[in-house]
This record gives sequence, structure tokens and C-alpha cells, in this order.
Amino acid sequence: MKIICCKEHAELAIDVIVDEFEAAPVVELLTGKGELSTTCEYCDEPGAYKVSNI
Ligand SMILES: [Zn+2]
Repeated sequence: MKIICCKEHAELAIDVIVDEFEAAPVVELLTGKGELSTTCEYCDEPGAYKVSNI
């Protein structure tokens, strides 16, 4: 599972992963070309982070 989110919602995304998987997520800054145009899962801001359980 991965969640693309903005800075505002990074903590929310982390909470979601921790709740679902009971493990600390990996948080990465988005640098990939395709991912930079992805918007936040929770609002219309451009995504800044990728939070995943891998
Ligand atoms: Zn957001």
C-alpha cells in the first residue's frame, strides 16, 4: 500500500498505515517524474511525500 500526500497530510497518511499494518511506514520525498504530478490523497495540493508499508 502506498499513499501520496502533501506535507499537511503526511501525519495523517502515516497514521493510516500504522493503523492498518501496525508497522512504521516508510516516508519518502517524491522525486520521480510521474509521481510529482500526483495530487494528495486527502486534498488538492500536489503530493510531496510517498508513505508506504514496504
Ligand atoms: Zn493534503
